[in-house]
Amino acid sequence: MTDRLRIAIQKSGRLSDGSFELLKNCGLKISRGKDRLYGRVKEMPIDVMLLRDDDIPEFVADDACDIGIIGENVFEEALLVDGHDAPAERVMPLGFARCKLMIAGPKEWDYENANGLAGKRIATSYPGLTGAWLEREGVKARPVMMKGSVEVAPRLKVADAVCDIVSTGATLDANGLKPLATVFESEAVLIRNRNAFSSEKQAIFDALLKRIDGVITSRDAKYVMMNAPRAAIGAITEYLPGVDAPTVLDLAGQPDKVAIHAVCRESVFWGQLEELKKLGASAILVLPIEKMMA
Ligand code: ATP
Ligand code: ZN
Repeated sequence: MTDRLRIAIQKSGRLSDGSFELLKNCGLKISRGKDRLYGRVKEMPIDVMLLRDDDIPEFVADDACDIGIIGENVFEEALLVDGHDAPAERVMPLGFARCKLMIAGPKEWDYENANGLAGKRIATSYPGLTGAWLEREGVKARPVMMKGSVEVAPRLKVADAVCDIVSTGATLDANGLKPLATVFESEAVLIRNRNAFSSEKQAIFDALLKRIDGVITSRDAKYVMMNAPRAAIGAITEYLPGVDAPTVLDLAGQPDKVAIHAVCRESVFWGQLEELKKLGASAILVLPIEKMMA
């Protein structure tokens, strides 16, 4: 029997769409079992385990899964609080589920800097990250652990301020709070078990990593083609965002002109096309890139 790589992702929530999409873009189709806790992948020897996000760092650390996709906020909090002797290891950021952990306080507060929090009680589900930030800022305040509905704590007088994940700020606003300071900026990250994988498993992992890397680098990348005056090759290459070495081709019957083909690793905007035109480029085409492998 082949050794299969076990990957943990969030079953449903703010990480799950991005996680499923990443795996899909890596060419993995997940067929979910009846109990919906396991998914099997046909294309590669990979099993997917669908969990609550909070359980993922522990499952990966304890070798119940080999790798996992988790919010950096939850992962770092687990590292600070759980005191696991062999915690999971961060492999790479994945560029989705970006959010901020922020301190927020009553709208009427006159807040200038972290010192304004001295002596306050701060309700949070992230006592580790909040405590570490307060320490870095040199402020003595007390994180009060709350599992859910952190934002109602000030109204209930259980706390003076909160430290919570903020995206639009609408929830804070509805509770009479305003954001004051950013404690942690998070995105989804790939984590792995610290123990060495079997050579078979390592090979599956390496192949998957290459695909993930390809998906991430091609996410914003574009293939750009244009005709340009031979004299403008240097200026155009310098101008194109995130280009290493473009391909330059002769144009039949037009000795002063060339075709330039390049992979831009960043998004290409209208304004940049207009600049290229000013440099003498014409017939500019920007094409999406479906797959990329270094
Ligand atoms: P579970 O039921 O699995 O325990 P949950 O309710 O604890 O889920 P979610 O709200 O699904 O968690 O959030 C999961 C992760 O998604 C967060 O820990 C954070 O990393 C990220 N996240 C949270 N809010 C946002 C947001 N508004 N935008 C983008 N990412 C977010
Ligand atoms: Zn959770």
